[in-house]
Amino acid sequence: MVKNKKIAIIGAGISGLSCAYWLNKQGAQVTVYEKNTRPGGSIITKKIDGYLVDLGPNSTLETSQVLSALINEIGLKNEKIYANEVASNRYVLKNNTLHAIPMSAQLFLKTKLFSVKAKLRLLKEPFIKPTDGQDISLADFVRYRLGNEFLDYAINPFVAGVYAGDPKTLSTEAAFPKLYNLEQKYGSFIKGAIKGARERKKRNEVAKDRAKLFAFKNGMQCFTDRLSELLKDKVQTNSTISSLKKTGNSYTLLVEKEGQKEKVSFDRIVLCTPAWALKDLLEELAPEQAAKLQHIRYPAVNVVFTGFHKKDIKRKLDGFGFLVPEVEQKKILGSIWSSTIFPGRAPKDYVAFTTFVGGTRNPEIAGLDDTALLKLVQDDINTIVGLRGQPSFTRIKRWEKAIPQYTMGYQKYQKMFSLLEEQIPGLYFAGNFRRGISVGDSVLCAHETVEKMNESIE
Ligand SMILES: Cc1cc2nc3c(=O)[nH]c(=O)nc-3n(C[C@H](O)[C@H](O)[C@H](O)COP(=O)(O)OP(=O)(O)OC[C@H]3O[C@@H](n4cnc5c(N)ncnc54)[C@H](O)[C@@H]3O)c2cc1C
Repeated sequence: MVKNKKIAIIGAGISGLSCAYWLNKQGAQVTVYEKNTRPGGSIITKKIDGYLVDLGPNSTLETSQVLSALINEIGLKNEKIYANEVASNRYVLKNNTLHAIPMSAQLFLKTKLFSVKAKLRLLKEPFIKPTDGQDISLADFVRYRLGNEFLDYAINPFVAGVYAGDPKTLSTEAAFPKLYNLEQKYGSFIKGAIKGARERKKRNEVAKDRAKLFAFKNGMQCFTDRLSELLKDKVQTNSTISSLKKTGNSYTLLVEKEGQKEKVSFDRIVLCTPAWALKDLLEELAPEQAAKLQHIRYPAVNVVFTGFHKKDIKRKLDGFGFLVPEVEQKKILGSIWSSTIFPGRAPKDYVAFTTFVGGTRNPEIAGLDDTALLKLVQDDINTIVGLRGQPSFTRIKRWEKAIPQYTMGYQKYQKMFSLLEEQIPGLYFAGNFRRGISVGDSVLCAHETVEKMNESIE
């Protein structure tokens, strides 16, 4: 039960804020501590010179009822906007040409993104034995089931777009559990997709991969701003938690705020910081585990937002944007055509690109200075869509530790969090390091954590 319990939530990203929202609603006395000057964590929106710039997530998928219900409940239903229909065109670069990802069997047969050999290889997939249930990298998994070309021109760019990561190091089961379970349950992706669709039809459900992409009229930060507004002074910014101790059933936090240190006691603690920040927080309670968590990799990613006059762009920006496969040897990971996807992202007659650089593919590039970074982004955009002029607006955000990589063996960390919750009653974890990296996954994880806290008899 959480009612009347004094609960500290550490970290005011979307995980911490949604957790705090539900706990507060259920009558707990919550305090959210955030070390930054603002709540929101990875979610940052800026409005500058007529551009609306999302420097973290740009959108997310409407994957769960929990997410939709939360948005409605906090009064953001009318703020929510769905992606323009044309954004269902997603491009992948091959030989300096953009190819639309085929969304139907007919388009798949026609596309030049894959060779005839690769298409025929795909037909073998239902007859390939399932893998043996051991942890397997996404690259090995896809190569085994679908062949090299599919890995290079579909999965590699997709993983760069979602994780800024590398399929050779990511664990299929941890990073893409639905894909992995499809194979384990049905023996094949193709059989699984067909049978799964029939089963969903019977149950009147919509497939998760058909989930709609949405954002907010005024950017993603609207979500975390609204939650903070509702929590009022229960959210304390500029407040770093530097240590955590347990005495009997009570926890003591050391809060550092504006040069002052204060000890505050709570009945329950929810840790919603990134995993790398848990080292200091768990040092007293679980030193061995704290040391291990340092191995979770968070690569650096730079977000480079550029605005151009429409007349300076040679290609029609008729889609979500494009992703770059590693084998194409470009400097950027991909670019989102932000002003095509959602309205209000650029002033009239201007367009906006949100380009991603770095990740596990190009960590050295993430360290370049602003001039060099802008030049390489412009060079790549020029080669790919064609530019006639300079950007009229630029903004760079450097995420030194961007997204947790669910690498091979990541399941041991996922088990570790569950075990710590069992061994240290009253301590909970919620965040993008636990059950998925998206905004939607983070909200679901927060919801599951609150349910767990309610089920606890203490
Ligand atoms: C560049 C980028 C692009 C992305 N794009 C998308 C996208 O398009 N769609 C999507 O769904 N997802 C996307 N994501 C992922 C998604 O944004 C994140 O996974 C999610 O927002 C994480 O939320 P969180 O609350 O778990 O963590 P965070 O947002 O990292 O919040 C953790 C908070 O804890 C605070 N903190 C840390 N240590 C302490 C301490 N000791 N004391 C107090 N506070 C502390 C931090 O300051 C931070 O505010 C993207 C992420 C990045 C970085």
